[in-house]
Amino acid sequence: MTISEFKTACETISQEYKTKIAQAESLAAVEELRVAALGRKGALTELLKGLKDFSIEDKKTAGPLGNALKAAFFAAKEINDELNKTELDLTLPGYPVAKGHRHPLSVAQDRMTEILAHLGFEWAEGPWVEDEKHNFDLLNIPLHHPARDAQDTFFVDSKMPLVLRTHTSNVQSRYMEKHKPPLRIMAPGRVFRNDSLDATHSPVFHQIEGLYVDKNVSMADLKSDLTAFMKGLFGNKAEIRFRPSFFPFTEPSVEVDVKCVFCQGKGCNVCKGSGWIEMLGAGVSQRAEKLRY
Ligand SMILES: [Zn+2]
Repeated sequence: MTISEFKTACETISQEYKTKIAQAESLAAVEELRVAALGRKGALTELLKGLKDFSIEDKKTAGPLGNALKAAFFAAKEINDELNKTELDLTLPGYPVAKGHRHPLSVAQDRMTEILAHLGFEWAEGPWVEDEKHNFDLLNIPLHHPARDAQDTFFVDSKMPLVLRTHTSNVQSRYMEKHKPPLRIMAPGRVFRNDSLDATHSPVFHQIEGLYVDKNVSMADLKSDLTAFMKGLFGNKAEIRFRPSFFPFTEPSVEVDVKCVFCQGKGCNVCKGSGWIEMLGAGVSQRAEKLRY
């Protein structure tokens, strides 16, 4: 073998293995290629055996060439070993980033206000800390009414009698002071009562109420709006019933139940065996009269 043939052979082996390594699909395949080149009967090993037949002069050129090629294969092995050791797989997807989610109360409130908006109700708001006039007096809840009892209400220690609003109805009193009928409003928000915390009571909870005042508005409108609202909330198949009831500020009054979605009316723990879940109270408001509308 001449020195120029040796150079060509080195070049051929180098190109061949570079291509094969680039196409290898696993670390094991790369290792196989390294053995094929540098193993006892490897292509490069065989080539380097011919070095001994060269003249001293030719060995000075051929030696470094062969060693550089050998070193390149060993470098590839070191990289492979390192990759094996760290078990680093660059093809794995990254860790998912926690995105969080909206609070269930916000989700429920948005759903309800969206349905009421479709029914023509306008969003209205009022203060959380309210005077007795707007929280009680204007709503047909006079001074002697039990709803004002200290056991039901958080009174705020101040010069004028203030309370944390016990219902969203303070929005009705404030809205009707400033707006003349016809009016159709919804008042969603936080309310406060001096209740001990248990499965069905909380000192802070959320209400949503609607008020519709216009000529020729009757119980029929109340019933159709509430039916549309409940079906919007629980789906078209939801079964709803209206029961006569009593509230100090509506006459006549109704309570609205939905057939238990957990047991489909058969009776379970959630509906206390009745098959129905009480959802809301409603009626023809006497407050508008109190406010002389
Ligand atoms: Zn049930």
